[in-house]
Formats: sequence, structure tokens, C-alpha cells
Amino acid sequence: MNYQCAHRWAFKTWGGALEPIEEVFEPISGHEVTVRVTHCGICHSDLHIQAGGFEMGGGRLSSLEAAGSTLPLTMGHEIVGEIVDVGPDVLGVNKGEHVIVYPWQGCGVCTTCASGDEQLCNKASLSMGLRLPGGFGDLVRVRHERYLVPFGALDPARAATFACAGITAFGAIRKLPATTVEDWVAVVGCGGVGMTAVALLVATQAARIVAIDPDPAKRVAALQHGASLAFDPNAPGVLKEIAKACGGNIAGVVDFVGAESSSSFAVNIVRRAGQVVIVGLFGGQFKLALPMFIFKSLSVCGSYTAGLPLLRELVALAQTVTLPTIPIELRPMSTVNRSLDDLAQGRVVGRVVLQPD
Ligand SMILES: [Zn+2]
Ligand SMILES: [Zn+2]
Repeated sequence: MNYQCAHRWAFKTWGGALEPIEEVFEPISGHEVTVRVTHCGICHSDLHIQAGGFEMGGGRLSSLEAAGSTLPLTMGHEIVGEIVDVGPDVLGVNKGEHVIVYPWQGCGVCTTCASGDEQLCNKASLSMGLRLPGGFGDLVRVRHERYLVPFGALDPARAATFACAGITAFGAIRKLPATTVEDWVAVVGCGGVGMTAVALLVATQAARIVAIDPDPAKRVAALQHGASLAFDPNAPGVLKEIAKACGGNIAGVVDFVGAESSSSFAVNIVRRAGQVVIVGLFGGQFKLALPMFIFKSLSVCGSYTAGLPLLRELVALAQTVTLPTIPIELRPMSTVNRSLDDLAQGRVVGRVVLQPD
């Protein structure tokens, strides 16, 4: 195989279908690494990226173009592959190794990046699959070997999902305060990411978990993965029932939906001085009577993926603790357009992970 020319799936207009393109690489230099993609997950965010922005409420979209993304754009930020070429300054990783690529890259030198939170870099977002070419193709060129995370004996398709779904769940629950066995934590939205959060909470927090999801099958799954209680947010009188069942003692709520309804539900069930973490990107606006912040001494924060150190920590944790596996369906890369459509139409359970044809 020629490792100097990448064959990718990219869209040339916002909202357009993905088409095959080629990119000839410059000769490899410095700390660069070329990775032959073996697996790349499709994330719900890819639908927003393809559309050109995120729903900001009132029908307005954020603009990825104004934020610096350029066309043609190759998406794919849950990348696992084999190292096939390394620059002369690369240390600590070798050709033939299989690695997860950490995609949420920043400038790498500012204080935010130095703290490990490159995904929040204020100077330059160089995220793969958003600004730089991602993993919907056969090869990716990675800027520096430090973004490569070996994953031991973990299943590579599952390891790929750690780069976004996994660290998104992990990063969000890390924003909760430390809890005791008297406390409760609520997980709103028990899809793949929410379910991973339930399992990570069981592994890392003392609090009992209450799962909130309108889908009865997801509530059953949450109970199987360690939640103590589960409720349908649309059931009549549910707020009172939750307050009674949890003794009004929900210390934190993680909202994996991020819709107007789910965020107001979260604020309603959290106790005084509680923490609400908003993670989902369904979109809309957050509305709350200002005195509620004061009377409840409420903290509301967001969580955007997570830093590189947390990906390494998650990989280590996954090798010692049994985390639930989201159902994974492997498909050839050439199904990318149909797979994105299936995801948009709600026909995907768990994760589709693409493999180059
Ligand atoms: Zn994602
Ligand atoms: Zn930076």
C-alpha cells in the first residue's frame, strides 16, 4: 500500500453527500505519524457537522464555516488504526502498533492545552474530522505522536468509540461533585453515551443512580447496568415521584439530551446547591427564572468531550472495570452516506463503526 496518498470520503458543499476524494501527503516530518484507519465510528455530531452547524434555538444554526472549517471536509473523529509511517522526531510509538487517535486537538502550547484540555483551546481548534481531515478514509496524518493512545486487548471497534462517546460520558461525570451513599445522581437520556455514564458512575461514585428516559427498553438497560431507579420523564406526576423516591437528594444531573425540555427537567429534579451538567447537543435554548439560580444555589455547566489525559484514564479503567458495551455494527466505509442517513432517521441502535473497504 502507498502511504503517501489518502483516499477519503468528503463533502464539498454543506449538507451535501460525501464523495471519494484523494489527498497526496507531503513527505512525513517532525513528530507526524501516518495511521492506516482500521475503524472509524459515526457520531451523531457528524450529522450536525455535515449540515454546517448546530441548532441554537429558534431555527438558527451555528456556522462551522464562520468558525474556520473548510470544504471539502472529511469527517470521522472516532479513529482507530495501525501506525504505518513516523516522522524522524517521533518517540515512544512504533510502526505496526494499533492506537486510538485523540481527535480534539488544540494549539498544543497555550495554558489550556498544557493543562490537558486541548478540546477547549482558545487559540486554535485543530480537531480531526472537523478542521483537519478525519477518519472517513484509509489514512490519516496525525500532527504529533502524543495524540496516539494504545488500547491493549480492548476490542478496536469499541476502542474507537472511546475517542468521542466514551470520553464525553467520562468528562461529563467528572464535573459532578464527589458524592456519598446518601446522594443520588440522575442520568437524563440513556442512549449509548448515557448508558456508558451510568456504568462509569457505578465504577467511580458512591451515589445511587436514577435513570431518566422515555424508552422503556433503555430504562431496563440502565437498571441492568447499575441504576437503582428509572423513570419516564413524560409520565404524569413524575417530578413528585422522583422527589419522593430519591428523598429530594439528587446532588447532580447529567443531561445527555441537551434539549429545552431535558434541561428544564434536570433543573427541576436537582437539589439545592446541586450541579447540572449539559452534554447533549439536541439544541435549543436554556430558560430559567433568574431567582431560581439564587434560591437553589444552582450550578449549571456544559461539558465538551474531554482532554487527552482522560482518554488515557478511560482506556486504563476499561481494562480493569467491566463497562457496558454499546451495540456496535461494523459496516464498510463505502456505506458512509447510507449510514449517516440511517443515523439521521433513528434507525441505528448503538454505534455504526466503519471499516475501509
Ligand atoms: Zn462525536
Ligand atoms: Zn491551545
